[in-house]
Amino acid sequence: MGPVCTSCYAAVREHPGACVQCEQQRPLIGFTEAGDGICGPCAGVDLTYACQRCGTSERIFRERLCTRCFATKQLAEALGGDGTTVPRQRQDFYSALSAAGHPRRVAYWLTCDGVSTLLSQLGASHAEFTHQQLDDLPNTPTTRYIRDVLVVAAVLPPRDERLEALPRWADALLAQAPLPQRQLVTPFTHWYLLHRIRRAHRHRPLRASTQHQMRSRLRRALELLDWLDEHGTPLGELTQPELEMWLEEGAVERREVRAFVTWARGRGLVGELVVPRARIAAPSVFTTDEEHAEQLHRCLGDDSLPLDVRTAGALTLLFGLQHTKLLELTVRDVIDDNKMVALNLAGHRLPLPPEVARLVRAQRDQCQARWQLDQTASTTPWLFPGQEPARPLGATYLNLKLRRHGIAPRAGRNNARLALATDLPASVLADFTGTSISNATRWTGYARRDWLDYIASRTRI
Ligand SMILES: [Zn+2]
Repeated sequence: MGPVCTSCYAAVREHPGACVQCEQQRPLIGFTEAGDGICGPCAGVDLTYACQRCGTSERIFRERLCTRCFATKQLAEALGGDGTTVPRQRQDFYSALSAAGHPRRVAYWLTCDGVSTLLSQLGASHAEFTHQQLDDLPNTPTTRYIRDVLVVAAVLPPRDERLEALPRWADALLAQAPLPQRQLVTPFTHWYLLHRIRRAHRHRPLRASTQHQMRSRLRRALELLDWLDEHGTPLGELTQPELEMWLEEGAVERREVRAFVTWARGRGLVGELVVPRARIAAPSVFTTDEEHAEQLHRCLGDDSLPLDVRTAGALTLLFGLQHTKLLELTVRDVIDDNKMVALNLAGHRLPLPPEVARLVRAQRDQCQARWQLDQTASTTPWLFPGQEPARPLGATYLNLKLRRHGIAPRAGRNNARLALATDLPASVLADFTGTSISNATRWTGYARRDWLDYIASRTRI
């Protein structure tokens, strides 16, 4: 038997067993004419290019070891100090990282700032390993990946990462503010904003929209204080007309300052100020029916588009689904009884037409396969997984991705909602699209007011 190329070697390695000649359990490198497996050394094959530890012929990373063996060896050395054995109290930690789905990321993490110090401390102490120790490292995607792996392996307890990230984000922002502002806004942030969020999310995970809103509330408070500083007005002397002028001058997000004003009023820091509610502007971004149909057609039939773009695009264009709702879906929310496919949207079934069902099925199968590989880093099989397997894609990123492929999500969603609102009562529309009743009622209102005529007139202009 002659030398074997790496792909043949990888193929036969799938069948480990006893070598017919030396009778040892080794990776088999080929078969005799009788069909018995034979190991590399007995076959006289040069295994120089295989990993010296596990025999794999996958790409050699360093020191003639594959990535996983190299990462595992480095990890043992860092934990054991002299590289002899991994201390007993760190066996779970070691096993979890050795089995991680992406050994290259583990190998890279080992080279990051502060990691070797952390590992030598862990190796030398019996103290329990905590989230805080990872929090002390720079917050990078690699550290987040390592945390996810350790949580899935139950080495660390699960925690709401979005919620945990908020105080750190807020402190970093406050650190850049002038001292008087910082002194004023720090108690508002910690004792008002964060306190309320923690209380409300003790038993349910924080959603991206709530996280976004909290950030906006803090930013708007700082923005108002900046404006007051520029005008030399102390906060206590801010008048209602001045506040309203500031609100009118800026974007609608400025209304988020309401939380700060309410808090300051409660503490007697401002007078009886009120932030008036903004009128919700009627939607104005629509596409023509032809464009809408063309985009939908591409989502359903264009194989050159990425599958997640086609699936998310079709669901947005047909049902007007919010991206935040779409991104909360897991493969378990795809109800498939072989006859019909439906989506489970917060307890409501959304039946899918056959062509969309085909896309959703394909997307589910693709994610499930990827999740099998990444299970070491995620307990949730997201239908639209992100770069970090424990998290779904970000709403902003999905939006950009759709736009890059010529799908206009906002206009498409508006078109779909309007079409549905003409046919469905608000309560059904709300269930159907996973939007709130008040929002759905607004949409049926728009439809009733012959909005279609309005769009038609707009497109003629
Ligand atoms: Zn190896």
